[in-house]
Amino acid sequence: MSKLETLVAGTTATLERIARDFTPAVFASSLAAEDMVLTDLILKNRLPIVIFSLETGRLHKETLAMLDKVKEHYGYDIALFRPEPQAVDQYVAQNGLNAFYDSVEMRRECCRIRKVEPLGRALAGNKAWITGQRRAQSNTRSSLAVHEDDPAHLMDKFNPLADWDEAHVWEYLRANAVPVNALHEQGFPSIGCEPCTRAIEPGEDVRAGRWWWENPESKECGLHVVDGKLIRIKSVAA
Ligand code: SF4
Repeated sequence: MSKLETLVAGTTATLERIARDFTPAVFASSLAAEDMVLTDLILKNRLPIVIFSLETGRLHKETLAMLDKVKEHYGYDIALFRPEPQAVDQYVAQNGLNAFYDSVEMRRECCRIRKVEPLGRALAGNKAWITGQRRAQSNTRSSLAVHEDDPAHLMDKFNPLADWDEAHVWEYLRANAVPVNALHEQGFPSIGCEPCTRAIEPGEDVRAGRWWWENPESKECGLHVVDGKLIRIKSVAA
């Protein structure tokens, strides 16, 4: 068995276990490369896992175009969760549209309104959620486990691609003709909101383009953080 076949077999087994033992479960897709590997595996294997995305109102047009690409390729509508309009209006009125550049606190408050609160609604009522995070993506993810407790949402959390490296992600996507976000070929390995994501140079950390004006230690959006600390404390034995 090749390394890729081994990774695919392990990830498929994890997804099947989630579908069997953790229903209802949902997959949070950012519509980036890693998440398209999981999308392909979930939909090809017809697993009863709902795929959703957080439509923050600040995404690139290339990312939004992925919704149509997924619909065309798989006949699947990714569920969208949006921020509360009143909360967005209040933040913009008080602080300005791009106040996230002013301080880590302002950035986290924008992420809380546009991502964290909608995520809570997307996860409500489920037993587990799935992400496309990989250990090799950054120093904030180096201890990532495949299966974790998520105390913030009181559910299990799975990172089925934790062991994958970037080369195998792309080998899988090409071998299976999976649709991919056009931003990747423009130098964006990690994709988030348009004003908070830039292309990176060869050799830079793959998440260096996210909130590039901040210290590496603060570069998480709050989806995987509780009280300012990463919550990957307690991994769960498979
Ligand atoms: S990534 Fe930027 S624009 Fe998007 S929610 Fe966070 S601070 Fe706001």
